[in-house]
Amino acid sequence: MRTKLDIAVLGAGVVGAATARHIADRGGRVAVIDATGPSAGASGASDGAVSVASKKPGTLARLATASLLYTRQLATGGVLSHAFLPRPAWYFATRDAEEQALDALVAKLRAIDGPVQAFADGGSALLSGVGPTVRRIVEIRGEGHMTGYSATAAYLDHPGIERRWPEKVRAIDPDISGVTLTLDSGRVRARRVVVALGLGTPRLFPELPVRPRAGQLFVTDRGPVGRLPGALTAASYLIAKTEDPTRLPEPPVVIDPLATGQYLIGSSREEHGDPSRVDFDTMLALIRRAAKVWPALSERRVIRAFAGVRAATADGLPIVGPLPDAPNVIIATGFEGDGICLSALIGREVAQMALGDAPDAALAADLAALTPARFAAEPGRHQWAG
Ligand SMILES: Cc1cc2nc3c(=O)[nH]c(=O)nc-3n(C[C@H](O)[C@H](O)[C@H](O)COP(=O)(O)OP(=O)(O)OC[C@H]3O[C@@H](n4cnc5c(N)ncnc54)[C@H](O)[C@@H]3O)c2cc1C
Repeated sequence: MRTKLDIAVLGAGVVGAATARHIADRGGRVAVIDATGPSAGASGASDGAVSVASKKPGTLARLATASLLYTRQLATGGVLSHAFLPRPAWYFATRDAEEQALDALVAKLRAIDGPVQAFADGGSALLSGVGPTVRRIVEIRGEGHMTGYSATAAYLDHPGIERRWPEKVRAIDPDISGVTLTLDSGRVRARRVVVALGLGTPRLFPELPVRPRAGQLFVTDRGPVGRLPGALTAASYLIAKTEDPTRLPEPPVVIDPLATGQYLIGSSREEHGDPSRVDFDTMLALIRRAAKVWPALSERRVIRAFAGVRAATADGLPIVGPLPDAPNVIIATGFEGDGICLSALIGREVAQMALGDAPDAALAADLAALTPARFAAEPGRHQWAG
C-alpha cells in the first residue's frame, strides 16, 4: 500500500471539515478526502440557520443549544469569526395551525430556558414592513446564521489538514488494526476513519437508513442592507420539520437577509435526491408567499434558483459514533436540515472519538442516542464494509 494515513476524514462538507479542524487543532494528523471538493454536497446548497427554535424538543434541541453556544465561542475571535452572524429571528402565523405552532414554540423555549428566548409575542406591529396577512409574530433572540460553504472553508483553513480531492471513496474495509480505503487512485491505509459522506454514506453502508430529501431555494439581487434585520420564517416551517410537508396548505417559507444585501429564500422538503430538479410551481409558491409576508421583496429580482439535498434518517436523528463491530470507523452523517447548526459541536465530539478520547460528559447521553448501533438488525452479524 502506497500511503499510510493516521486519521482520514471522508467528506469535505461542513461536518467533515469541522471534525478535521478539531483534530488538527489538537495536533492530530488528518487528511480530508472528497470526491469533488469542499461543500460539494448539502453544505454548498442550503440555508444556514443556527437555530434551537426549529429543533424537536429532547436530544436534538439539547445538542443544538450546546452547538449554538460553542459556535458563538468559535465566532468570538476564533475560526468562525467571519462565518457566524448573530441575528434575531421572527416566526409568523397567517392561519390557526400556524398560531398553534407558535404556541408550541413559545412553550418549548420556555421549557428549555436556554440562550434562545422568545423576546416578544404579538401582532404584525412587532415587525414594521410585514404584509397584512400576518396575524401574529414571535421574535426570537439568541440565534444566528452561517452559510455552510463559508463555515466549511473556515474550518479547512489550517496547515495541518491534508487535502485530497477529487478522490472518490469506493470501499471501506475495516479490520482489527485499521481501515483500508479503496480510492480511485488506489488503496490507502488509515488508522481510523471518519465517515462524513452525507448522502454518499448508504452506498458504502447500506444498513444505515439515510435517504435524500431535497429542498429548493432562491436568491435575490442586492438591495439596502438591514431593512429586514433577521430571518422571517413561517410557523409552518416548524410543522414541516416533524410532519409530512406535502400536506401543508402553504409553503414553509424562510426569508433570510444576507450580509450582501441579498435575500436567501427557501425551502421546500421533497422526497427525492435530484439536485437538478428545480420546479417552477414550488418556486412560484415560495416566491408568492414570501412577497405576501414581506412586500419589499416585490422590488427584487430572483437571480438564482437551486436545489440542495438533505441526508434524512429513518428516526429523524443524525447518526454519529463508531460502528459497533468496527470501532475504527466513526460515522457522522444524517443531519437532514440541521447539519450547519450542529457542525461545531459534532465536529468537536467526533474529533474526540477519532483521537480516542471520551465525549463531553454533559453530552454523553445525547450523543449515545445517535449511535449507528441503533440500526444494526442483528448485532454482531452485519457486514459494514461496502
Ligand atoms: C435546502 C436546504 C436547507 C438547509 N437549511 C439548513 C439550515 O438552515 N440550518 C442547518 O443547520 N442546516 C440546513 N441544511 C442542512 C445542512 O445543509 C446539512 O445538514 C449539512 O450541510 C450536512 O453536511 P455534511 O458535511 O454532513 O454533508 P455534505 O455537505 O453533503 O458533505 C458530504 C461530502 O461527501 C462527499 N462524498 C459523498 N460521497 C463520496 C464518496 N464516495 N467519496 C468521496 N466523497 C464523497 C460529497 O462530495 C460531499 O462534499 C439545509 C439543507 C438543505 C438542502
